[in-house]
Amino acid sequence: MTKDKKRNLIDRLNSGPVICAEGFLFEIEKRGYMSSGEFVPMVSLENPEALLNLHRDFQHAGSDIVQAFTYNGHREKMRVIGKEELLEPLNRAALQIAKDVATSPIGKEPNLMAGNISNSNIWKQEDKKSQLEVEKMFQEMVGWAVDEGADILIGETFYYAEEAYTALKVMKETGLPSVITIAPYGQNIMRDNVSILDTCKELEQKGGDVVGMNCHRGPNTMIPYLKEIRKALKCHVAGLPITYRTTEANPTFFNLPDNNGCTCHSPHETTFPTALDPMQCSRYEIGKFAKEAYDLGINYLGVCCGANPMLIREVAEAVGLKVPASKYRENMENHYMFGKNKRIPKHIKDYRAKA
Ligand SMILES: [Zn+2]
Repeated sequence: MTKDKKRNLIDRLNSGPVICAEGFLFEIEKRGYMSSGEFVPMVSLENPEALLNLHRDFQHAGSDIVQAFTYNGHREKMRVIGKEELLEPLNRAALQIAKDVATSPIGKEPNLMAGNISNSNIWKQEDKKSQLEVEKMFQEMVGWAVDEGADILIGETFYYAEEAYTALKVMKETGLPSVITIAPYGQNIMRDNVSILDTCKELEQKGGDVVGMNCHRGPNTMIPYLKEIRKALKCHVAGLPITYRTTEANPTFFNLPDNNGCTCHSPHETTFPTALDPMQCSRYEIGKFAKEAYDLGINYLGVCCGANPMLIREVAEAVGLKVPASKYRENMENHYMFGKNKRIPKHIKDYRAKA
């Protein structure tokens, strides 16, 4: 397939699963290119090759969408760190890196490059001034995304319904396909008291091409809502959980306690964001989520915070796709002790229970 024959997002979703890797914030932090807590994506300017490598790794693992890493790269956050003058260069650099990767796929049709806006953290209910400011922040970022050749726009991690509606309105003005996903907190309702389901219904009414949930929740506490959303909506639905074992008592990762007997607790009040590792889902849990969501009829799939290439491959393979990284999927057959390969000596195999 040639570059100009690239299928659009909706065509792809109509014919099967589409994989989108999110979770850049946590993974770039783990790779040593971002400060945790502060979470500003300076990486596109300061270590562009590190960001390019992560995009390539996700692409190799099967991500069909290359989402520009502009999460938190908005005017307000840049003001918080006193670097507002770098706002536009940061956005353009992130978009250009994503475009480079999207247009040089590994052995198949080009990926889709996505511009990205998200929760502003200054949205305030019934405060027109803050709301207008947020709308302007969205407009400038979406403008740069269009300039740099985005194929689609993703608005994500919204916990105010009205903020999500505003993001969608701004994205729709461009005419590009829009993905809009919400991330309600532990009270299981949007902060402006709209239910999760009603928010998604409204987003569909307002013209969202793909509507769903991302971030904050692990598979266990996201799937019940995805079921309701899938049943109620006609448009394509998205599900991109975090990769941690959230529970009914703690539906999001913000207050997730360490129940793994850890004796060296985080220096912060919460395990979020620097001590979540023991609550990480295994690849099989993530695969199970993807299969379950896909069987419900959810075709836009991925994972958010906690994502790594291994888990993206697991999502892709769980819904029947073969991706470049499938070449290196597990092969226990040849393990030196647990494998069944004939060359493995009996005295080594027999020791397995004591290993
Ligand atoms: Zn996330």
